[in-house]
Amino acid sequence: MSSDLAYRELAALWRERTLLGSCATLLAWDEETFLPAAGVEARAEQHALLTRLEHERATDPRVGDLLAEAAAALDPDDDIAATNLRLMREDHEQARKVPASLIEELARVTTRAQSSWEHARDAGDPRPYLPVLGRVVELTCAWADCVRDDRSRYEACLDEWEPHLTEAEVVTVLAELRAPLERLVDRVLGAPSPPAATLGPIALDAQRAMSHAVAGWIGFDLAGGRIDEAAHPSTMRIGPGDIRLTTRYAVDRPLAGLLSTLHELGHGLYDQHLPAEHFGTPIGEPSSLALHESQARLVENLIGKSHGFWRFALPRLAALAPSLTTVDVDDVYRQLNRVARSSNRVTADELTYDLHIAIRVELERALVRGDLAVADLPGAWDEAYARSLVRPTSAADGVLQDGHWAAGMFGYFPTYTLGNVMAAQLHAAAGAALGDLDADLAAGDLSRLVGWLRDHVHRHAGRYPARVVVERATGAPPDPAAQLARLTGKYGALYRL
Ligand code: ZN
Repeated sequence: MSSDLAYRELAALWRERTLLGSCATLLAWDEETFLPAAGVEARAEQHALLTRLEHERATDPRVGDLLAEAAAALDPDDDIAATNLRLMREDHEQARKVPASLIEELARVTTRAQSSWEHARDAGDPRPYLPVLGRVVELTCAWADCVRDDRSRYEACLDEWEPHLTEAEVVTVLAELRAPLERLVDRVLGAPSPPAATLGPIALDAQRAMSHAVAGWIGFDLAGGRIDEAAHPSTMRIGPGDIRLTTRYAVDRPLAGLLSTLHELGHGLYDQHLPAEHFGTPIGEPSSLALHESQARLVENLIGKSHGFWRFALPRLAALAPSLTTVDVDDVYRQLNRVARSSNRVTADELTYDLHIAIRVELERALVRGDLAVADLPGAWDEAYARSLVRPTSAADGVLQDGHWAAGMFGYFPTYTLGNVMAAQLHAAAGAALGDLDADLAAGDLSRLVGWLRDHVHRHAGRYPARVVVERATGAPPDPAAQLARLTGKYGALYRL
């Protein structure tokens, strides 16, 4: 670590920002879980204030001088300080391009929009929500115009979640996946469907116990985290030792609840393995949301939908939920891997999942380009689904199913597909290095796989960009080939193609 005073002053400023951000995250967790509906307006003001304070630190005129001083005194062998300084400079330069009033207004409006989205979803009627969403789109476009330079607005949005990802790269990856996945879906749906027993119902208390049991097997430390319930499951890192997961349960769909928990546990493991000693500096934060998603998708799909995991899990979960004693592992495996053209992303199977993402990416690109009016979004959503998968039968299972846009998270959806791509590649590399992972899963021993992920992915946090992490771990940059090969092999065997 550099002993330079300027560097230390920058680190102190950055730490304050991180703490302000973590206060905002704690408020966000509260909104997802316990905030009374009447508290939304006061909460919007709290978010606006915290966001302004954070922005003031990011744009503090002293930062530019301190960055120059620290760079001049930098020890050439201190690559941690060098990376921190580079990331701080990029952040400072971007923050200075945006007026504080715009940042504040975005925080206020997205808080209101998320509440409005939840009400609209519960009522199944998008009409009262669309004007608020329209304001979020307007402010997002204004923000993107401040920071984008010669990039497209959408590319500026992508950069928020996945630094330096280009719009062309997103379009290419989705195109490379789309045609082979559509062909595979056609073949699977044209083949005789293997019989699969229907599971459930399972009481909510038993499902909560199942989630906690699975958290223990995966290695998520409940002394440093929580699992609560929310309309839209997520993982929030408040700080070291405080990782909060939310999931959701439905009595008659117990597997969906368990998969949601597994997904968030993948995020949670990553967050718990981030280097606590770097908390409060840029390299202490994950470098990429796609890499974060890769960990969630890996635990959800490559562990949670595997035969090996269920050979271990089923008898143990049946002790918590006796109705599971009536099914066998093959039943559950087939049920978990059933393919269908559906209208819901969260419950979609692995083959159609990226087709759901492609629809959202097309629509959000059109929204921020200004080619699609928010008033026309529900119709455009239904048409896109009718063309690619199936027309939704309700707004709640259509345009209202995701809260990302209400939260201002334009450009986030591609991280799911990139996460799938990275998950397949990382899992293949872990298997090549460690040998038979299915036998580990069947023995309930996830320590070798989780340890490999901790060493090759989690501990790097913000030190390297995602593509470098993947390349160091697997020997090649992210490439959809591993995901396509895995899905072709898995579903070919399951449906005897
Ligand atoms: Zn996720």
